[in-house]
Amino acid sequence: MSDSDPIEPLPLRSLPPLAANAAFFIDFDGTLAAIADRPDLVVVEKRVSALLKRLAQRSGGALAVVTGRPLAAVDALLAPLLLPVAAEHGSVRRDAAGVVHRDLRGAGCVAAATAGLEPLVEAHHGLLLERKTASVALHYRQRPELAEICALAAQAAISHMPELTLLPGKMVYEVRPKGATKGTAVEAFLAEEPFCGRVPVYAGDDLTDEYAFAAVNRAGGISIKVGPGDTVAKYRGEREDLLAWCEAQVEGRSLAEAPGSG
Ligand SMILES: [Mg+2]
Repeated sequence: MSDSDPIEPLPLRSLPPLAANAAFFIDFDGTLAAIADRPDLVVVEKRVSALLKRLAQRSGGALAVVTGRPLAAVDALLAPLLLPVAAEHGSVRRDAAGVVHRDLRGAGCVAAATAGLEPLVEAHHGLLLERKTASVALHYRQRPELAEICALAAQAAISHMPELTLLPGKMVYEVRPKGATKGTAVEAFLAEEPFCGRVPVYAGDDLTDEYAFAAVNRAGGISIKVGPGDTVAKYRGEREDLLAWCEAQVEGRSLAEAPGSG
């Protein structure tokens, strides 16, 4: 069976504690932070900031956030913590040495597609265009009944631009250049210190995380799907389960040993 065939993942609670040589890659929205009505309304709980700090210490700095958000938005939400980040699905990546790598191929096409989507957003209150460095996201969380109209508009916006692709997410369509994905971002980190040679662990909740799950599976790592939905991930749990599991990693204990655990 190839790693692209979905099989039901194992419960996250059954995953034993990892050796100290793990590298952690964690999606932001819906994974580290609970989803809000608008991207700018998301908050990071103190518990999560504290956990990230300890997880980074435990893994020798081998902890990266992998997200569709722009780099500056992640930094602002996690401040004063400054972590390695793959932003905009890997188009912008800050490595562990602090060097920012930007893949701006297709930026001109993205600008043209953005212009194509503006009339739709102006015509429908509640739709939101999130302009990023290398991509643009059309959010319809506040107007879920417009999902199909948004899909058609996004497809039309890229129809004459083979350099671009449409990435569906949770209540969002992301228009972005082909090439960089969360999977290629994880692979780039794994080729560098302090990630290389470690067992990769990836946790995420969205369709876009499937690229990273596949990459981590190929590397012999541990992939964790947060919440429902078809996935190639090997384990599944709710967001609360993931936070508890990560806390157990930091403390070097097993969740399966805890009373009342399934
Ligand atoms: Mg997410």
